[in-house]
Amino acid sequence: METKITCPHCLSKNCFVEEQKEFSSYMCFNCGFMSDSRFVEKSLEIADYMKTMPESVKILQFVDETREIVWFPSILNMGAKGMIFPETSKHEPSNYKWKFAQVIEVPNGKEGEYEGHQQFLDVENAKTYDKFEFMDACKDMGIIKE
Ligand SMILES: [Zn+2]
Repeated sequence: METKITCPHCLSKNCFVEEQKEFSSYMCFNCGFMSDSRFVEKSLEIADYMKTMPESVKILQFVDETREIVWFPSILNMGAKGMIFPETSKHEPSNYKWKFAQVIEVPNGKEGEYEGHQQFLDVENAKTYDKFEFMDACKDMGIIKE
């Protein structure tokens, strides 16, 4: 079942909760932050999760005082559809941006430069979105319809 809440991070109402039997997952389409009822603050699970995450995710983590869980900026890796990820700096973490990198074909004859791969994630030419334009990045990726 899917319901809406007010996002604790950006206060938008475009934030969804999906309730499962054992846990609930949260996803805000305004600021792009997500969480899970199992992401308990200072828990071992969180410590483990953080180890696998890039620096930008660690910098941007946000504590939801009401639910006592930690929220993180989403990283959407959709294979052939590309990848959406946050970008930020330590100096101005609140000014984060969203990036959408597409998967493109390796030009003919250049496979050698890409370890034989036919396609690659074009991070260099990733499109940039403002922090509250996460939804636009999802639309461009094609995972959300207008
Ligand atoms: Zn939000």
